[in-house]
Amino acid sequence: MKLLFLGTGAADWAIKSEEETLPGERRRSSMLLGEHILIDIGPQSFAHAKRIGVDLTKITDIFISHTHSDHYNKAALLSFAEAAESTVTVHCHADAAAKLALDPQEEKKVHIHKLKVRDTFDLQGLTFTAFSANHYVADSKEVPLHYVISGEDKLLFYGCDGGWFTAETWEYMRKMQFDCMIFDTTVGEMDGNFRLAVHNSFPMLRLIKAALLENHMVKDNCIFIADHLAQTLHGSFAETVGALAKMGMLMAYDGFEIVI
Ligand SMILES: [Zn+2]
Ligand SMILES: [Zn+2]
Repeated sequence: MKLLFLGTGAADWAIKSEEETLPGERRRSSMLLGEHILIDIGPQSFAHAKRIGVDLTKITDIFISHTHSDHYNKAALLSFAEAAESTVTVHCHADAAAKLALDPQEEKKVHIHKLKVRDTFDLQGLTFTAFSANHYVADSKEVPLHYVISGEDKLLFYGCDGGWFTAETWEYMRKMQFDCMIFDTTVGEMDGNFRLAVHNSFPMLRLIKAALLENHMVKDNCIFIADHLAQTLHGSFAETVGALAKMGMLMAYDGFEIVI
C-alpha cells in the first residue's frame, strides 16, 4: 500500500495558496492511498494534488472521516469530481451526508455511500471497515470515523481525528495486528491540554503505543505515523521529528510518501 500525505496539519494552520505555502508548513488533512483513493479533503487538497502531479483522472473514491472543515471541503470535492474520469464515490457516515451540503445539481456529480459504524466493504482490492472515533462534531448526529484498511497482506489504521479509541473500537481492534497506524497528533508535549478528550498528545500516544505493543496489536515492524499536527501546539519541524523519533514514530509532512 502506497501512502502520499497531501495535508498533515490541524485546523490552526492558515489556509494559504500553493504559491504562498512555504516548505515545512502544513495544509489541512488529506491522504492519497494508492492511485485511486483519497481519505479526507481539505480546502487546499485539490490544488496541492494537482501541483505535485497526482493523476487526478484516476481518483474514484473519497473517504471523509468527519465533516470538520479541515477534513471536508465542498469546493475541493467538486474539483476532484470534475477532474476524475469516472464518477467519484464519497464514503461518509450516514449522518454526515447532509453536512456535505451538496445541492441537487451537485449531488448528481458524485455517488454518496452512507456508512454505519462497523460497515465493511471491498474496494480496489482492499477491504475497508469504518469504526467510531472518539471525536465530536457539534450540532450533528454524525459519528466521526476511523478506518481500518486491509489488503496486499497489510493492515492499516487511519485515525484522524480522534483522541484515544472508543471502547467499541478498542475491543474490535484487540483482535487485529497492524502493519501501520496513522494517529491524530494534534497536541505535542503537553500534559493538561483541554483537547485530550478529542485529540491525541505526545503523552497520550506514549500510552497508546505501549498498550498496542503489550496487547500484541501491532506487528514487530509496525510503522507508527504522527499526522494532523497543530501549528501552535508543537515545536519546530526538526524538534518534532526528533521528539517523535524518540517515541518510535515517524512525522508525516505534506508530500511525505511511504510504502507499507
Ligand atoms: Zn481535524
Ligand atoms: Zn475534527
